[in-house]
Amino acid sequence: MALHVLICGGGVIGASIAYFLTSRGVQVTVIERTALACAASGRSGGFLALDWCDGSPLAALARRSFALHAKLAATLDGDWGYRALTTYGGIAGRQQGIDRRGGAYELCWLSHRVIVTQRLGMPGTTAQVHPAQFTQAMMQAAQVQGAELRIGRVTGFFRDDRGNAAGVVVDGEHLAGDAIVIAMGPWSVLAATWLPLPAVYALKGHSLVFETGTNIPAAALFCEYREVTGAVQTPELFPRSDGTSYVCAISSETPLPVDPAAVAPDPGAIERLEAMCRDLSPVLASSRIRARQACFRPIARDGLPLIGRVPGVGGAYVATAHSVWGILNAPATGEAIAELIVDGAAHTIDLTSFDPGRLPALDTRRLRRPADA
Ligand SMILES: Cc1cc2nc3c(=O)[nH]c(=O)nc-3n(C[C@H](O)[C@H](O)[C@H](O)COP(=O)(O)OP(=O)(O)OC[C@H]3O[C@@H](n4cnc5c(N)ncnc54)[C@H](O)[C@@H]3O)c2cc1C
Repeated sequence: MALHVLICGGGVIGASIAYFLTSRGVQVTVIERTALACAASGRSGGFLALDWCDGSPLAALARRSFALHAKLAATLDGDWGYRALTTYGGIAGRQQGIDRRGGAYELCWLSHRVIVTQRLGMPGTTAQVHPAQFTQAMMQAAQVQGAELRIGRVTGFFRDDRGNAAGVVVDGEHLAGDAIVIAMGPWSVLAATWLPLPAVYALKGHSLVFETGTNIPAAALFCEYREVTGAVQTPELFPRSDGTSYVCAISSETPLPVDPAAVAPDPGAIERLEAMCRDLSPVLASSRIRARQACFRPIARDGLPLIGRVPGVGGAYVATAHSVWGILNAPATGEAIAELIVDGAAHTIDLTSFDPGRLPALDTRRLRRPADA
């Protein structure tokens, strides 16, 4: 009988694991509390880079993933806006002396307040996807291969006679499986109350999606922007192939709500971001805003993902804490977790740097449990 794996969390990481496991003939159930890609996986930039992680432990994961993104776009059904990009860096804002004529490059849709100072990536090294559409496409491909998507809230797990993970508790019901994978993004910290997992932190980011039309060239911009108050922000601008443009900025450490559906922008943050966008581009200033949103990215204490076996609990795996590179690194993470579960070891990527056992398990005795945890 086929192995049955229960994946907790329907973000880009859970959907990618589901795709690669079902590609290996594994039976998969993805359990998602709210809706597929409802969190960061549906609200992030979707920017991909081949070599921006070079020199760090993420280099091989990022390079493998960048190549897998191109392969998936060429082989799977569907269009999730994958395309190669040129990527620029610049400075902008309301300080004296900003004059676009001093820039090294011209981007026609930006205002005179932006100086484009450098090229950060070429079409061979930077690309993008629409992250919600990519997550949906991966889940759909997994479903074509037999995966099931179940809407439900995971609140715990249970063990077999030998102490190994034997399933998860979903809305009070015991759902049995041969292995479980925690892929709940920042909410993976909830699983640290029932499994020996390191802490996962959450950092909030705000974003806007504009209906800018398809005339904007395929070029991303990473910008340093000084607000009227003097505060420096680092907005990222990504025009997309579907005629929208995504802009994110303004991080905050607002606490993560236990319910993903309760995530909302901080008071005033969207207004600040809109003011910034009006300054950055007359095209943004005159375009309808389709979405005003916020989301949390998951981070481990050392900034590296947690990908591998949960220490001391057979049949339990975790894949989270991808921080700012979760969309980029989802495919190679999915592939590696599938290898770990099916073959007993990952061979496309060395997972040593991402071993969850490298960090101490969260001491949950002092945690205050939120009312609806
Ligand atoms: C503003 C911003 C911009 C970003 N831009 C980029 C970018 O350009 N490129 C890039 O590579 N990365 C980017 N990232 C990072 C990327 O978005 C994340 O790393 C990635 O989406 C995390 O995916 P995930 O599947 O781990 O988590 P999530 O997307 O958070 O998914 C976790 C899922 O678990 C579900 N869940 C929660 N609790 C339960 C429960 N009890 N039971 C069942 N399910 C549950 C949630 O509903 C959610 O759907 C950005 C992040 C932010 C915040």
